[in-house]
Amino acid sequence: MTIPESVRSDTEVRFLPGVGPQRAAALEQMGVRTARELLYYLPRDHQFLPEPALIGELRKDQQATIVGKVVNLRYAARTRPPRLDVRLDDDTGACRLVWFHGGYLRDQFLPGDIMAAWGKVSRYKDTLQLANPGFRKIANVDELEQLQQAGKAIYPATAQLKSWEIGRIIQASLERLLTLAEEPYEEDFCRARELIPRREALKLIHQPTDEEDVKRARRRLIYDELFLMELGIALRRRQRRVALKAAPLAVTTLLDQRIRALFPFELTKDQNRAIEEICNDLARTEPMNRLLQGDVGSGKTVVALYAALAAVGLHYQAAIMAPTEVLAEQHFQSIERYLAHSRVERVLLTGGLTGARRRELTEAIGRGEINLVVGTQALLQEDVAFKNLSLVIVDEQHKFGVRQRRRIRTKDRACHYLVMTATPIPRTLAMTIYGDLDVSVIKHAPPGRGRVVTKCYGPEKLPDAHEFIRSQVKQGRQAYFVYPRLEEAANGSVEVGENDNAYEPGLLKAAIAEHRRLQEQIFSEFNVGLLHGRMDGTEKQRVMDAFREGKINILVATVVIEVGVDVPNATIMVIEHAERFGLAQLHQLRGRIGRGSRQSYCLLFGDPRTEVAIERLAIMEKTSDGFKIAEEDLRLRGPGEFFGAAQHGLCELKIADIIRDMDLLRLTQRDAFELARRDCTLAAPEHQVLRRMLIEQFGEGLGLVDVG
Ligand code: ADP
Ligand code: MG
Repeated sequence: MTIPESVRSDTEVRFLPGVGPQRAAALEQMGVRTARELLYYLPRDHQFLPEPALIGELRKDQQATIVGKVVNLRYAARTRPPRLDVRLDDDTGACRLVWFHGGYLRDQFLPGDIMAAWGKVSRYKDTLQLANPGFRKIANVDELEQLQQAGKAIYPATAQLKSWEIGRIIQASLERLLTLAEEPYEEDFCRARELIPRREALKLIHQPTDEEDVKRARRRLIYDELFLMELGIALRRRQRRVALKAAPLAVTTLLDQRIRALFPFELTKDQNRAIEEICNDLARTEPMNRLLQGDVGSGKTVVALYAALAAVGLHYQAAIMAPTEVLAEQHFQSIERYLAHSRVERVLLTGGLTGARRRELTEAIGRGEINLVVGTQALLQEDVAFKNLSLVIVDEQHKFGVRQRRRIRTKDRACHYLVMTATPIPRTLAMTIYGDLDVSVIKHAPPGRGRVVTKCYGPEKLPDAHEFIRSQVKQGRQAYFVYPRLEEAANGSVEVGENDNAYEPGLLKAAIAEHRRLQEQIFSEFNVGLLHGRMDGTEKQRVMDAFREGKINILVATVVIEVGVDVPNATIMVIEHAERFGLAQLHQLRGRIGRGSRQSYCLLFGDPRTEVAIERLAIMEKTSDGFKIAEEDLRLRGPGEFFGAAQHGLCELKIADIIRDMDLLRLTQRDAFELARRDCTLAAPEHQVLRRMLIEQFGEGLGLVDVG
């Protein structure tokens, strides 16, 4: 076998010292085939031997590593417990090492051996000792130093390859592997950000001498990982901007006035700011790509409708898409309210529409006779050929994944694009997760909303709640009861709650059974309705209409009401098994009440068994700020669960964590976008290393390859 003097990125690990065919296979299973992949196989943790100390200077309770000669050893098999005693001497004193049940270690020690041992110093009678210490036989002090190095990095291991074996393989080639690490930044750039050189960071992460080393190494590597990700996002966004052209839509003062006249209220400051940002985008040939973020009921739909009417007023078509047919219908209805006296030609196009009527509509859309089309995402994928579509609005209500979003975007390249979401995400994260979207935020809801009081109770308080609701309904109010399940577990349950392990199945109340019980036993004097996801569209619509018109007093539901239902007279919401819902989900549910001017009540019933569950419900009592709730949810659950599939879509992060490393995320975002502005093709000579790193990481997806 030839061992190469120097390595290249793609040198296979089997050519490295200490890696035979078997280990090469084990490494490959861990995703490490090349020298480069080995260099970037990072430790998951580090462990440090305590500071070396002289035996004569040891103090009780100190953590220490000592080196000495074995003077004698004695195994006491009959003591309880049996123990192995070793006496270790250096020139300053003697120390006893003791292993309880240590018989199996007997032949590890011979008088005269030089040993290193480490652990916590304790006192036994008059002598100091190390009980059950870590130890290693060594030849000389140099070897101790090596030992300290090798013991430190703890690698993700497998059954075939232990952490220390991986460490040894890496140590054996580290100097040569490090030649693969290039420095992408200038010295000043690093100094200003207190970043150590990249090569040094990689060396220290594999071979640190202390915790400080690890910290500095991690900071640099996290910076690099986030910077590359942000740079990828920034470049993709610049390229989209230069490549695609959309119809510029310049809203005149007259048009603005005509649109505003359709709304029976003044727009709020936040709505006006969002509209201004949108109008600025629309006026340009670069396609708008904007995320409109605001809590449920904050008035996003009105802003989106403004944008749609701007397009229509300038003789283009606009489309509004919702994640489900029911939501599309609701959008259409609420839009109808605003457009009752306008000449805008609008249609609702859903999957339920078929045959001649559908053909009629799609042809009218194709001829440009329809100005505004409301439907599901299927709108853009099917037979619908718009004449001059210029704006696509997607109400995603956090129901779309990244994948769908991408398909929608590529279908109609030259459209302006506005996404509405009620998922409150801190801005820095939104830029990362939604990649190349700009963000407008509606923070404050329209005035005149009643307060929502939220309280958590144990199940024993339910009868009180029933009485309270009875008195409210008698005064004309309406109420929701929400359950995590549709049916009881025994007969084919439908899961809707997020936290599944909180309850034994069978103990769970379910919507269908509770609906019957509430109607027959508790509220027989009122009309109790039922709404759930398995009902067909018309049936759902019928129930919601009846609730809106007040014919149903109390509505029992699963999470289907999470989005869309808008009944200002509904002022009470009871959520049972509240600990089974995600915070964001509870917040969305709660958004269904407090829509009128009266005070509303959200009553969370549950039996939270864990600290976290209790803390989560307490957050709901404390705050109604969706952003705060989202942050707390992130803190308690971690980003993975929170975002689910909706990741940035560019790369998996190996060492960085966008929540924990939020500060570095902010910094890299700023740096990367600034760089992309100066050199969006990375053509400058000083950016060639970065360019190579980006291509290594993202392949040719960024369109960088052919430019340089
Ligand atoms: P979202 O889409 O963010 O959930 P909507 O746009 O549907 O919010 O608005 C929620 C409710 O608030 C609707 O009933 C709407 O008519 C009302 N609304 C919206 N903007 C205003 C405003 N500026 N002043 C008063 N009411 C408003
Ligand atoms: Mg809405």
